[in-house]
Amino acid sequence: TPVIGVLALQGDVREHLVALAAADAVARPVRRPEELAEVDGLVIPGGESTTISKLAVLFGLMEPLRARVRDGMPVYGTCAGMIMLADKILDPRSGQETIGGIDMIVRRNAFGRQNESFEAAVGIRGIDGDPVEGVFIRAPWVESVGAAAEVLAEHDGHIVAVRQGTALATSFHPELTGDHRVHALFVDMVRADRAADSL
Ligand code: GLN
Repeated sequence: TPVIGVLALQGDVREHLVALAAADAVARPVRRPEELAEVDGLVIPGGESTTISKLAVLFGLMEPLRARVRDGMPVYGTCAGMIMLADKILDPRSGQETIGGIDMIVRRNAFGRQNESFEAAVGIRGIDGDPVEGVFIRAPWVESVGAAAEVLAEHDGHIVAVRQGTALATSFHPELTGDHRVHALFVDMVRADRAADSL
């Protein structure tokens, strides 16, 4: 069974732990470099990306995170987590850094303010059956992706889900819906990565 961490600096950590467990992974919070070293994959939750960025630097996690993502550790970022995985942010706040890993440019708060949060059905490439219920909370969208990144979903003409190799990102929050298909997709990515490593 794959062991998947949830970066537990700020944001909706608990909901991701529950969703990962429901998708048949062993899930644990990650706050320290030693904990990061022990997981097969990592989720970066929604929350506030500038806060997560600053805490990652403060906790000595930013460079270890970049190193593991560069090494190909599977990662999945939702909302603020998507921002953390972007190689470039269009409108970074001062002191805001990203881990990077996906060749994309992300626009923060692109869908509007907190009170303009909304839900919408989103069809995702690679997920069969009904569309996923997308919960968008002060959500970013992806302005553009590089050649290595694959667009998995759009909403209203804007890119809201992207995959590049072992990295996955969504603008929305599947961990809040009780539908665990996106987490199951990520758990499958982690399983495939572990199988490839043991060849
Ligand atoms: N707007 C937030 C940010 O910039 C993200 C919101 C969320 O994760 N729900 O980090």
